[in-house]
Amino acid sequence: MKEMIKINSIGRNSAGQTVEISGWIDTIRDHGGVFFADIRNRSGIIQAVFQFGEREGDFAALARKLRAEFVVSVKGRIALRPEDSVNPKIPTGEVELRVSEFEILNSSKPLPFFPGDRVSEETKLKYRFLDLRSRKMLRNLSAVDRIMRITRDYFSSRDFIEVLTPFLTRSTPEGARDYLVPSRVNPGSFYALPQSPQLFKQILMAGGVERYYQIVRCFRDEDLRADRQPEFTQIDMEMSFCSSEDVMETAGNLVREIFFCFSLEFPIPRIMPYDESVASYGTDKPDLRITLPPLRDVTEIFAGTEFKVFRTICGKGGRIVAFFVEKDFSRAELDGFIETAKKLGAGGLVWMKKTPGELKSPVVKFLSDEEKKGLLNLNPASGTLFITGGENVFGIMGELRRQIAEKFAMLRNGFFPVWVVDAPLFEKGKDGSLQSVHHPFTAAVGDVFADNPLKLKSHSYDLVINGEEIGGGSIRIHRAEVQKKVFEILGMTEKEYSQKFGFLLNALSYGCPPHGGFAFGMERLAAIVLGLDSIRDAIAFPKTQNAICPLTGAPGKVSDRQLKELNLKTIEP
Ligand code: ASP
Repeated sequence: MKEMIKINSIGRNSAGQTVEISGWIDTIRDHGGVFFADIRNRSGIIQAVFQFGEREGDFAALARKLRAEFVVSVKGRIALRPEDSVNPKIPTGEVELRVSEFEILNSSKPLPFFPGDRVSEETKLKYRFLDLRSRKMLRNLSAVDRIMRITRDYFSSRDFIEVLTPFLTRSTPEGARDYLVPSRVNPGSFYALPQSPQLFKQILMAGGVERYYQIVRCFRDEDLRADRQPEFTQIDMEMSFCSSEDVMETAGNLVREIFFCFSLEFPIPRIMPYDESVASYGTDKPDLRITLPPLRDVTEIFAGTEFKVFRTICGKGGRIVAFFVEKDFSRAELDGFIETAKKLGAGGLVWMKKTPGELKSPVVKFLSDEEKKGLLNLNPASGTLFITGGENVFGIMGELRRQIAEKFAMLRNGFFPVWVVDAPLFEKGKDGSLQSVHHPFTAAVGDVFADNPLKLKSHSYDLVINGEEIGGGSIRIHRAEVQKKVFEILGMTEKEYSQKFGFLLNALSYGCPPHGGFAFGMERLAAIVLGLDSIRDAIAFPKTQNAICPLTGAPGKVSDRQLKELNLKTIEP
């Protein structure tokens, strides 16, 4: 293959050389009798000069046809640019290519929009190939490629093997809806696209693989409000005969290596029990960049209060939660916070201006000296104290604290990773039934046969960086009896779990080793290391918020013949 010259390697020292390059016309400027065109390809951008002179005729006629995004091949001599037209912003800014011959390899219609134009996401994605030509997208895709290479080197040097698992499979409960694929040869039956390879990787452990990893597509049909995609990539791993610490170390070190390759520092993650995270930050995804002191449960201070609002809350078994900000706020700002707290679900919000010896607030007159003392002792500094009470106020106050920190730039720079461990095994769903906090294959700390299910913790660990969960995992249940008991606690009958998970129970029944694993979202990780606003920018062909691919028009209608072959009929919504 002919070696293509890298544009950005052309510099002062190349002056006098004849080169041939192919690429796109980035911009073109007509200076009458001479055209300046910037020619761009993956390897850089360079100014080319089409000087007509005595070459009026075919050369000039063809040059006049050139437009932005035409694909050309040009040949010419590299010359130093005149001093006053050097462009220090690009590596080739000291030189230009004086074109002697060129060929138009393809034309382009006038562009539907220019880079930086405000166009809808749908229009942008329809012309994704134009976006992909940008430096930014090229950088992002190359970064994802780098992450995949680092991952493969990392795991293979530690004796993990990459094993592919099926896409046409049964559903795995990861909390989202499944994408279903009808089976033609088994009328009325459906495959589910995997939400993750969870059960296959566990069965690989039963199969003696011991150390597995995979860079794998996962499919989840969920509302795409947040920065989610219906198909995304996981870096997935599982190992046998391991402790939680082994998995956390293996996963954490990989993340450190990835950060390192992007010249970013990744401190050793803190380890924080789930309960502490919720009590201190109101969330299981704490953002440790926030410089404000953590939330405080002040229910005890108000145990015998005369202040009616708090007395009622305490009487109903609610909690009173406070946080302190070392800052004075204007009345308008304080009113704004009250509004925010109410929008987040609080009944109200009490604020108090605090100096070392004094509290000022419309409600102070309702408080006893003891209560005031208790609040003053929370923090020696001057500033503002926010308090509210109710049933689920940690989440509300955690979010208010986060919003205030963000709005008033109370965030440190850098990355602050934390492993949130020991989440509850179960939680109550809206209908009162028990659900898994992680997934039903997570091992319990405690005894699932004897203990109150809602008191059980799990052998789980989630990696959170700056308030974003990048992945999670757990030690798994490796005994069939325990797994059956968990299914029962989740409300499944023997018939139901045998039907859905009989294959897993079967694998656990024939000498399955203890094992655990972890998975993280690769695009989310790429977005973090690249500082992207959205994981969409780390995906070549993402879907819109409505799960549509404007480029291909997917999902699309299919013919009646195809439906018939699948024994399917559609009903109009
Ligand atoms: N399968 C889990 C997930 O997709 C990760 C794990 O437990 O390994 O979140």
